[in-house]
Amino acid sequence: MKNVYGVLTLTLAFGLATGCQTAAEGNMVDLVLVNGKVWTGDAARPWAEAVSIRDGKIVGVGTAAELRKLSPSGAKLVELGGALVLPGFIDSHTHFLAGGFALKSIQLREAKSREDFVARIAAKARELGPGRWILNGDWDHQQFRPVELPRRDWVDAATPDNPVCVNRLDGHMILANSLALKLAGVTRDTPVPPGGEIEKDPGTGEPTGILKDTAMDLVYAMIPEPSFDEKLEAAEASIRHAAENGVTSVHEMADASSFEVFEELARLGRLTTRVHVYIPITEVATLARLKLKSPFGNSYLKLAGLKAFVDGSLGSATAYFFEPYADEPGTSGLLHGQMFPEGIMEKRILEADRAGLQLAIHAIGDRAVSLLLDMYEKAVAANGPRDRRWRVEHAQHLRPPDIARFGRLGLVAAVQPYHAIDDGRWAEGKIGAERVKTTYPFESLRRAGAVLAFGSDWTVAPLSPILGIYAAVTRRTLDGKNPGGWVPGERVSVEEAVRAYTANGAWVEFAESVKGTIQAGKAADLVVLDRDIFAIPPEDIVKTRVRLTILDGRIIYGKD
Ligand SMILES: [Zn+2]
Repeated sequence: MKNVYGVLTLTLAFGLATGCQTAAEGNMVDLVLVNGKVWTGDAARPWAEAVSIRDGKIVGVGTAAELRKLSPSGAKLVELGGALVLPGFIDSHTHFLAGGFALKSIQLREAKSREDFVARIAAKARELGPGRWILNGDWDHQQFRPVELPRRDWVDAATPDNPVCVNRLDGHMILANSLALKLAGVTRDTPVPPGGEIEKDPGTGEPTGILKDTAMDLVYAMIPEPSFDEKLEAAEASIRHAAENGVTSVHEMADASSFEVFEELARLGRLTTRVHVYIPITEVATLARLKLKSPFGNSYLKLAGLKAFVDGSLGSATAYFFEPYADEPGTSGLLHGQMFPEGIMEKRILEADRAGLQLAIHAIGDRAVSLLLDMYEKAVAANGPRDRRWRVEHAQHLRPPDIARFGRLGLVAAVQPYHAIDDGRWAEGKIGAERVKTTYPFESLRRAGAVLAFGSDWTVAPLSPILGIYAAVTRRTLDGKNPGGWVPGERVSVEEAVRAYTANGAWVEFAESVKGTIQAGKAADLVVLDRDIFAIPPEDIVKTRVRLTILDGRIIYGKD
């Protein structure tokens, strides 16, 4: 729902409908968790053994003996046997609804060769039958040997009757087959939209099937919209997946239309992940007119603010840099379509700020980050000091002076540690040794005073905070080539990694008084892990399993 009135309607309906519902309503059992190792996140009492929970809230944190005495009558005792208890994980950057669709779509992430890639697409075409679109995929051509981008002629023979539109895992390129290009009317003569690229074969001048960033919309516009029931089903798949991963809150980078899906689940009492939704900055005028300050909503579903893009991604060579790419000297990347016409982003940022809205803006290349910090600075200078908690999404490649600016502006670095161990396999080839030194500079950002908010960017990376913590703490790249850590000075401690997945995520939501740490009075959102990640060798963190996930005092995953 992208028109002005659509957003208005769903926003007001949401305000009326979700005032008092909680997922736990109706079957609330009070719990006392004992004999655990509880990391509280509370500086006054960092560790405890037991937690008691009443009516969905934490009512006591202390020793087992203390809490047994105070536990509500009829409470259920959960014996933890020394397991680690953390606040429920908050994933600060997901594509949550889209993730549910991806769980059910073709899986190309593991395709390691052209043959494997083609075979998976051919099998999906047979499974779906003629006429159906083959979508999502999350392929990664960096795994192919030789490394090469896929082409439509690889898959055309297997998909004469199925349009194919499968994305690279970063979401910044797609491969479309000839049928999909035909449906979209893309030919060698199609004008290239600003902020996009239609890759052409250097020999023939014909499109290869690779479309980047805004050019992807040419094909996306042709894909039939899923039904509302299909969206509900996808959202429920995401919610189950979150619970399995110990995730109790997500920040959803979405289209405005995903809001009503979560709203419906909240109404039905089936929303068991707290969802904090950012919608595109193109909606700024609507929100400003509603005088809607962010965040708006209840503890289960909030309209968080606005999301925008300055540039593309490193893997697609569309992240925007000061200097050209090392492996493609003809390009320094691309500004995103939302940066055009020139000056529009700055205007929207100012408008959002005047309206009291939070911003979450994607910037990956060093020049994109610099430009964004300039725009943020100007808005602060124009509108004066305020508790903004503005975010820079990804913040991957930074010039050293810009790292310091994060602290001065009090910004949130909404970063995804798994990307570092994934991209770390090949990033140096793309940008050279010098720029790699300040790539994914998590520890430097933290020291500079930025608030680190960790997330997965699911489905770009797996929705697993355990993997994210492992990545941030070890920086061991997925290819095993950096056992001591890739740019090891940027590793963070286990405690800081956990904080970036819990308390800091709550702070970003302006919700630090109600969740994110284990303290009396806060929501009983907890995760129980099968081992103490603070005590084991960091390389073993990856083996950790989630035993229990508790939301609002209710066990939503695992058996006690
Ligand atoms: Zn994202």
